[in-house]
Amino acid sequence: MLQPNNPELVQKIENFVTGEGATATKLFDASKMKLHSEVRDMCAADKCNQYGKNWQCPPAIGDLQEWEERLRDWPIGLLIQLCWDLDNESDIDAMMVGSEKMKSIINKVATRFREERDDYLPLTAGSCSLCKTCTYPNEPCRYPELAIPSLESIGLLVSDVCKLAGLPYNNGPLTITFSSAILFKGEITN
Ligand code: SF4
Repeated sequence: MLQPNNPELVQKIENFVTGEGATATKLFDASKMKLHSEVRDMCAADKCNQYGKNWQCPPAIGDLQEWEERLRDWPIGLLIQLCWDLDNESDIDAMMVGSEKMKSIINKVATRFREERDDYLPLTAGSCSLCKTCTYPNEPCRYPELAIPSLESIGLLVSDVCKLAGLPYNNGPLTITFSSAILFKGEITN
């Protein structure tokens, strides 16, 4: 059984993201999440063009061992998805718009619930996008108390997290599904 320390906050955030356009949300046992060095290898291959360009991406974000320890404080997850329609399977423009929409939902959580930030850990899709251009590496992070790591940047395989939550990783032809998560403190009981 998932028992968040602050169930009211979980409900408020779930309601908020749904109001902002999230198409699915689901609580899940985040203590079962596994970090993968292969995901970090994909970051290092720099297919997303963010490796070494963002304080919340590798290598600045810290190693997997550090994150494994950190995640022990956050055993309850709320998976947040945005299923976005495409005109065709290579509709890059729609994919970009959907990606920005997903990031903006999580960014809005970080600003709307900034006073409660000690009670949740947001994990966005892609990379921290609170600033138009990240200050990495020349200046310190502009908003260290608000900055947002991503599922991928801490070594999570998004498809695994979706499976844990029991939500589909994708929703079929002519759609793309973006996934983010908010982690909470709490207990998992039988
Ligand atoms: S808050 Fe701004 S400076 Fe800090 S990691 Fe995010 S984008 Fe970079």
